[in-house]
Amino acid sequence: MSEDSACCKLSVTKTNESIDWNQCILCQESKRETVVQNPKIDSYEKLLESLLERSSLQDGEYVAVQTRLQGCSKETMLEAKATWHRSFYLNATNQVSIQRARDRFQHAMSTGKYASKNEDTNEQARKRMQAHQLHQCHSLDLQQSLCQKTGASSVR
Ligand SMILES: [Zn+2]
Repeated sequence: MSEDSACCKLSVTKTNESIDWNQCILCQESKRETVVQNPKIDSYEKLLESLLERSSLQDGEYVAVQTRLQGCSKETMLEAKATWHRSFYLNATNQVSIQRARDRFQHAMSTGKYASKNEDTNEQARKRMQAHQLHQCHSLDLQQSLCQKTGASSVR
């Protein structure tokens, strides 16, 4: 228990971010929406898991939230009486939106990466090369046949 909270404090100072435990740990803003009172430890666990996954998927604001909560365990949060806006929690742990984040991430990995771009240009280069070789071959044939035809007369 004490080790966990020490770890949390350490990472908080390390990232230069302090958590105001009295405010929603997700947005750290006081909105008109009331925060959830005394969340269950299961909720802490679920939230931490979701945040971890979403931040690894580079999912927008959750990256920052995860950074802020880095090193915090569900016990730390329980001890600190961490709380949040219900709507944000529901969004963060929403399976559909997590799946969307996964899809987005995979899409970004497969299209945004250099590797696939290189594949395209390689393919283009290969086709160009083939066309070039074909052309070269063709013109060589042409030259040869021209030579054969005109050779006798032009070479003295
Ligand atoms: Zn909030």
